[in-house]
Amino acid sequence: MHEPLGVLDTVESVANRRVSAVEVTGECLRRIEAHDRTLSCFRETYPDRVVDAARRIDRLIASGEDPGPLAGVACAIKDNIVTDFGRTTCGSRFLADFRSPFSATAVRRLTAAGALIIGKTNCDEFAMGSSTEHCAFGCTRNPWDLDRVPGGSSGGSAAAVAAGLCPAALGSETGGSIRQPAALCGTVGVKPSYGRVSRFGLVAFGSSLDQIGPFAGCVRSTALLLRVIAGADARDSTSTPLEVPDYLAAIDEPIPDLRIGVPRQYLSDENHPAVNEAVRRAIEVFTGLGAEVLEIDLPLTAYGIATYYIIATAEASSNLARFDGVRYGRRASLAEGEGLYDLYARSRSEGFGAEVKRRIMLGTYVLSAGYYDAYYNRALKVRRLIKQELDAAFARCHALIGPTAPTPAFAIGEKADPLSMYLCDLYTINANIAGICGISIPAGFAQVDGRTLPVGLQIQCKAFDEATMFRVARMFEKSTDYHTKRPEMGKGG
Ligand code: GLN
Repeated sequence: MHEPLGVLDTVESVANRRVSAVEVTGECLRRIEAHDRTLSCFRETYPDRVVDAARRIDRLIASGEDPGPLAGVACAIKDNIVTDFGRTTCGSRFLADFRSPFSATAVRRLTAAGALIIGKTNCDEFAMGSSTEHCAFGCTRNPWDLDRVPGGSSGGSAAAVAAGLCPAALGSETGGSIRQPAALCGTVGVKPSYGRVSRFGLVAFGSSLDQIGPFAGCVRSTALLLRVIAGADARDSTSTPLEVPDYLAAIDEPIPDLRIGVPRQYLSDENHPAVNEAVRRAIEVFTGLGAEVLEIDLPLTAYGIATYYIIATAEASSNLARFDGVRYGRRASLAEGEGLYDLYARSRSEGFGAEVKRRIMLGTYVLSAGYYDAYYNRALKVRRLIKQELDAAFARCHALIGPTAPTPAFAIGEKADPLSMYLCDLYTINANIAGICGISIPAGFAQVDGRTLPVGLQIQCKAFDEATMFRVARMFEKSTDYHTKRPEMGKGG
């Protein structure tokens, strides 16, 4: 069997009728069948539906009609993004049988562009986690080493793309859930600026932080995917009316007088040595391309995690109040004499996992009378300072580079203490807090216990400057070959 096709190759080959959409989709389904029992990327797949959709694409092409910019591209959807077919569980027992009456705007835009929705992918419950272990239905495995996590919370999407089960996937971010698993699985993952992509149909976690974004095997593919899903949406008042540039059109043009910032705080001695090594090599690559590399000081980096775990949990405690046993999902059965309060308490106690309960309790606490000012209001002030610090950095440079995550993929079960898990997002979380955009791209490998594990490089740009972010990422990708390496499982067969 041949190597799995990426997004752009699929679009090209299907449009030129070298292969049919039905054939490429069939190949994805075959690979899912062969590997997903081991990897557990998918919650469910839609074989009949996706083959029907592929047939429609082939018919459009045969009759000379434009099938759309993503025609024939099989795309997986994180299971916290609703579809009006199949189930959307958010990795939670609470929603184990939940069926949405509508699809998310991002899903509708993908479908309108000719993409084929192949299935829903595993995630940490309600996207709370960094390893996909907090999924009520079992964890996803990293295709580079089955004993390791794929990262999270969009781990199923990242692992599916890395293993070549499908060329593209959507994930969601609140604090790093696309970039971190992309880094740990060796794929490209994009966190768009807050407001770039409609959140309509993304099950809310922290509404002032959440964004949907794409995964794919190379920078250009993610640029195309983002172009399709981005843009104003009347159903999400926080989506920006700003025009969406054609990211692909200028992606190969290097940026003149490029200034790259390297935050001092990102190259900590506590990072895995291979992670710092990858950043140092990236600095050399950019210097070799004529860029000026500046050291940047971001002393507020360390406050990101604390700030995030106040704001995100506060918003989560409010957003998750809708899961009350009455309107959505699980409804507990009551004993004789029990009333409405018991229905809420029982449904929530039975339906939510431990991490989700922890977040709800934390969030309720920081919003409670007497603590609101001390925690929530103070966190909002720190949020403003973090944003100002990043704005000042972007006045000096086009992009910031650094590690995506402090370490390569860790072992399943290794981070039992919640705080150690929270620290995985040290370098990604401030982008969500400040609403800027970021991308993780393959940038090296670490040898850990005799295994080869991918390492990601993060590139961050100011809000709504995804065009620059893609161009900088593409400059690096063109000069390196890390993105061409696949885990054994991601090769043909
Ligand atoms: N790991 C972070 C958390 O658990 C971020 C999750 C996310 O981005 N969805 O909250």
